[in-house]
Order: sequence, then C-alpha cells, then structure tokens
Amino acid sequence: MKIARFGKGQVGVVDGEYVVDVTEAAGVDVAEWPPVGPNRLIAEWDERRPAIEAALATGARTPLAEAGLLTPVPWPNKVIAYPVNYHDHGREMQAGYRADVQGFFLKPPSSLSGPEDFVELPALPGREVHHESELGIVIGKGGRDIAREDWKDHVFGYACLLDMVVRGREERVFRKAYDTFCPVGPWITTADEVDDPTQLSMKLWVGDELRQDANTRDLVLDIPGMIAMASTVMTLHPGDIIATGTPAGVGPVVDGDVIRIVIEQVGEMNVPVRQGTRGNTEVFANAYTPDIIKQK
Ligand code: MN
Repeated sequence: MKIARFGKGQVGVVDGEYVVDVTEAAGVDVAEWPPVGPNRLIAEWDERRPAIEAALATGARTPLAEAGLLTPVPWPNKVIAYPVNYHDHGREMQAGYRADVQGFFLKPPSSLSGPEDFVELPALPGREVHHESELGIVIGKGGRDIAREDWKDHVFGYACLLDMVVRGREERVFRKAYDTFCPVGPWITTADEVDDPTQLSMKLWVGDELRQDANTRDLVLDIPGMIAMASTVMTLHPGDIIATGTPAGVGPVVDGDVIRIVIEQVGEMNVPVRQGTRGNTEVFANAYTPDIIKQK
C-alpha cells in the first residue's frame, strides 16, 4: 500500500491517480497536536490494516493532483541520517571516513517538509545549498539492539528523501537543520510492495539535468547494518525515519529550480526551490568554499 497524508492531515491510500480517504479507519484525528496520528497508525498497523482495506471501497476519492500531499510522518521521534554512505560520494567530498566507521547524525523533525512544499534557501551570500538524494526508511516496530537478521521485522516502508545542506565546515547538524531541509514523500510505500530495497535505482534531476544516478546496492553500510547500528545506541520508535545516505553528484540548487527524485518502486517527488530572506547568522559571516566546489 501507498500511505499518504494530504489536505489538512487526512490519511489516504493511493489508488492509481487518486487518493482514497481512510482517516477514520486509520484512527487519525487531523486536529490532534502534536500530529502523532501517523506514528500511532504505524504502531497499530497490523490491527488497523483490515479496516483500512475495507475503507478503500467507500472512502472519498480525490485526484492526486488536487489532494495537496503532505509529508507522511510529520512528528517522528527522530530522523537518523548516515553521512558518506556511498564510496563515490565519499570520493567527491574528499572524506576520509565512511558511515560504517563514523556512525550517524540526527536531523531535527522540524526540518521535515512535504512533496509539494518548497525548499526555502536561507539568505547566505556566497554559500551553496546542495541536494542529497536518499532512500528514506520508515521504522515500523520499534526496539533496541535489533539484530541484523531481524531488520525486516522493523521496517514499515520506504519514501523518497532529500537531505538538504549548506555546504561548509560548520557543525553538520547546524547546516542541515533549516526548516524545509528534509522533504520526505510523496507517500510511504509499505515494505511488502518493495521487492528488494537493497537493489533500488535512485535518480535525481535538477530541472532537466540528471545529477545523481545510483543504486542502493552500493551502500557502504547496508540497510540491516543501519538499523542495527542505530538501535545499538537508541531505542527506535514507530515512525522514526532513516536517511540512508547520498551517492555522488551532489550540487547546488538556486531559486526557481525543481528537484526531481525518483526511486524505483517507491515514488517520485518534484520539489520546488525558493530563495528565502531569513536564516543568516554570525556563524556564516566568513564565506567558506568547500573542497567539492574548489574541484570544479
Ligand atoms: Mn545525507
């Protein structure tokens, strides 16, 4: 199933060119704050699935193009992100480490945005904001110390994810924390609909230019390893999101660009980019040119 969030926070199942409203069967109250209904739905998925399947026949149908898709899990406990998890990206960044020996960082859940929201570029003269195309994993059953071989028991589904970043030497989390710097969507494709997440083609265009073209088989730390490592440190909760890392081809985006990410069997997002007027701080007072830009 493809589980979407749309409109004012309704839950829908994507059926061809339509989204079918299953909010009531999903047990989600769109007025609830914080908006943790999707987390609860994921936690209760096995019990709720029959009612959701039944609601598919009767729920209101809205054309996808008019639905107003939102990010599927807006209030996860955490967004876990693995840096330098493809060798070719490590080479382009001249990074002397890889995710398997470096571990992960966290992105704030407040950086999440939806497939139809624009990425707001902070007003940082002389600095570049880069796209990172990533497969997003949505955790289903939580847990601590999850063994590699048990990884499939803990994955709810998959989504497209953009890990946006101001390139530079400042604290990584700081540069990746801006609002709208983590578009996720266009929906969650449940794990049973993805044949083999370790063999997925992933492509990213900016406008007509193909920038990133990779396959998840080239991950350095694989999906079982990412779940095992994260849960060695932290308890994973239903709805937690893992950004699995980006391949080579990262680059800048500017006002007016549209970032297109396509992941086989998972989905496609076309995310517009707008220049904002806020977001500058004294941290960025001294313009810095990262090595990846000097190489050009
Ligand atoms: Mn990344």
